[in-house]
Amino acid sequence: MRIGVCSGSFDPVTSGHLNIFERAAKLFDTLIIAVFCNPNKKPLFTMEERVEMLKEATAHIPNIRIDAFSGLLADYVREQGACAIVRGLRTSTDFEYEMQRDLFMQHAASDIETVYLMAGGQYSFVSSSGIKEMAKFHGPIKGLVPANVEQRIIEKYKND
Ligand code: ADP
Repeated sequence: MRIGVCSGSFDPVTSGHLNIFERAAKLFDTLIIAVFCNPNKKPLFTMEERVEMLKEATAHIPNIRIDAFSGLLADYVREQGACAIVRGLRTSTDFEYEMQRDLFMQHAASDIETVYLMAGGQYSFVSSSGIKEMAKFHGPIKGLVPANVEQRIIEKYKND
């Protein structure tokens, strides 16, 4: 049984994330989407909201499970019996960040590999922070986030 873990803040999940999930789900028997609870970040959506949006947006992918975690990713991956972490790469900025992150992982957990998938071409500019900025000023986000997320984000900023 090969289990992969896709971790992130997913505040909120975007169409770019979803594209990675759909492709990564084909590489593993089970793909866990693990929402990271980062005490240093003040998210727009609560952990419960992020998990719920992910569940709705991935309902069509049968081998995906949504979970939340805090602490060291390596510990979580081992606890789950997973063999790999999956990350998406958009730009060279992502590459620099991921490379440093990977080297830390090699230091802390040389038994865990990370698999990198290139962003889908039409989503390489999409980020959760960009979506929030656009939505805050009531700009167009259709297609850049799953439909269920679009509704929720519009709702969040409706009084701004
Ligand atoms: P983090 O807070 O860890 O950066 P994110 O939720 O922003 O988490 O992203 C989680 C993962 O998804 C990261 O590997 C990130 O590079 C990847 N990712 C984010 N946006 C996209 C996108 N548009 N296309 C492909 N991968 C993406």
